Amino acid sequence: MSSASPKPLLLDAARVAGLLERIAARIGARHVVTDTADLAPHLVEGRGLFRGTTPAMVEPSDTQEVAFIVAACAEAGVPVVPQGGNTGLVGGQMPFGGLLVSLRRLNRIRDLDPVDLTVVAEAGCTLHQVHEAATAAGCLFPLSIASEGSCQIGGNLSTNAGGTAVLRYGNMRELTFGLEVVLPDGRIWNGLSRLRKDNTGYALKDLFIGAEGTLGIITAAVLRLYPAPRSRATALIGLPDPHAALALFRRLRDVAGDALSGFEILPRFGMETVLKHMPGTVRALAGDHAWYVLAELSSTRRGDDLSELAVEVFAAAFEAGEIEDAVVAASEAQADGLWRLREALSDAQKFEGGSIKHDVSVPVSRVPDFIAEAARRCEAHLPGVRVCAFGHMGDGNIHFNLSQPVGMDKADYLARWEAFNRIVHDLVAGLGGSISAEHGIGLLKRDELPLYKDPVALQLMAAIKAAIDPAGIANPGKVLKRD
Ligand SMILES: Cc1cc2nc3c(=O)[nH]c(=O)nc-3n(C[C@H](O)[C@H](O)[C@H](O)COP(=O)(O)OP(=O)(O)OC[C@H]3O[C@@H](n4cnc5c(N)ncnc54)[C@H](O)[C@@H]3O)c2cc1C
Repeated sequence: MSSASPKPLLLDAARVAGLLERIAARIGARHVVTDTADLAPHLVEGRGLFRGTTPAMVEPSDTQEVAFIVAACAEAGVPVVPQGGNTGLVGGQMPFGGLLVSLRRLNRIRDLDPVDLTVVAEAGCTLHQVHEAATAAGCLFPLSIASEGSCQIGGNLSTNAGGTAVLRYGNMRELTFGLEVVLPDGRIWNGLSRLRKDNTGYALKDLFIGAEGTLGIITAAVLRLYPAPRSRATALIGLPDPHAALALFRRLRDVAGDALSGFEILPRFGMETVLKHMPGTVRALAGDHAWYVLAELSSTRRGDDLSELAVEVFAAAFEAGEIEDAVVAASEAQADGLWRLREALSDAQKFEGGSIKHDVSVPVSRVPDFIAEAARRCEAHLPGVRVCAFGHMGDGNIHFNLSQPVGMDKADYLARWEAFNRIVHDLVAGLGGSISAEHGIGLLKRDELPLYKDPVALQLMAAIKAAIDPAGIANPGKVLKRD
């Protein structure tokens, strides 16, 4: 498999002990965690692909403490690895000898302004916490991902997280006005602007968003809120293939405009896997379909009847032979039940043995061709492999996952990860796509990046890293290889 954990950095024990003493004196000894059992859950990521090592995990409670820790580490030449909710899927949050910095105690909502439509949240707030604060003020923070109970704002920013509402509201980058960041030398950049218009030079916040902790530690952000939708219509549609799904997408967008806020696709194998393994999931359409779309319309306007609009579109699509069946949720509970069918899919796949995953994007118009051709090539490479291509079709972002053939040895199957990467990623590159749509590069895709990223872009990235982190202590070896 391509995901062997790297050898840990060897650091001078006395130097590290001195560093930990200094930090303990500032933030309190109980927030310098060295106990093996306490560290354990922070040293393995969700899929078990990488296992980390660290002399300690430190838990600062505010920006000044983060700055103190980073400055002390810079002085001692010890790398710092920020960790939020540890739900990242590319290994970026795993330390390999460096100090683990947990942001979980920076969990205050500093301010919420329903007129400016902004919330100032510290990096350790969970996404769920921000949702609750927004809802309490009659607003919406639209980032929507299945890990929302655990993932933190700092992690969402550092991975430029996407999710199921990008179609309407954009990624984390589009949802952010300003940042506060501790730089790798311990300086604090206060960029907590809440302005919609600010043309005063380089877009610094955009460097730190998506940097996966390699340019510093984000400690707070000004996030963009929206008025809460007054109505929504959620529907599950059965259809023959992704070409039909694309036709439906165009119909919905033509009629509903930007009220179309989610458009997700999943294949029969994905649907059956969810229904078989995930408690509480219920078949929503009577028949059996090769493909399913979960579509959501939402509106903030008074009096909009989105269900009626959706039914009209589905009737026309049915007439045109594009769709086979559709159901529109009649209540919030039913809508949540439909979403569960989609959101439970990542977890459900674990029950079907080894899964080789690709988080890729192509132009939306190329999604059907991509799915068909990638499936054909993968099935030719390993007959019996079970393709589960699903995800955010409206954003061109497909999770092209491959479950092992029934009865195959899991380790033998996972040993083919590299070979499947070449098949899928070469095709993606040929279609003008990206090998990482929303999960980032981390360690998992670091060595592949030079194969697909423009060489000048890579030189610019290396120059930015060298300018902001000349000593190379900010999450070294992630995204870009260490020199
Ligand atoms: C069930 C499930 C569903 C998911 N669905 C989606 C989805 O739909 N869309 C999507 O985009 N992702 C998804 N993810 C991936 C993951 O949840 C996101 O990447 C999330 O944004 C990571 O947040 P975290 O707090 O867990 O970060 P972590 O995993 O702790 O860290 C991720 C990266 O960010 C860095 N980092 C963390 N905090 C900071 C900080 N304060 N400053 C600087 N760097 C920092 C880490 O060093 C690491 O490189 C999913 C994951 C799971 C398990």
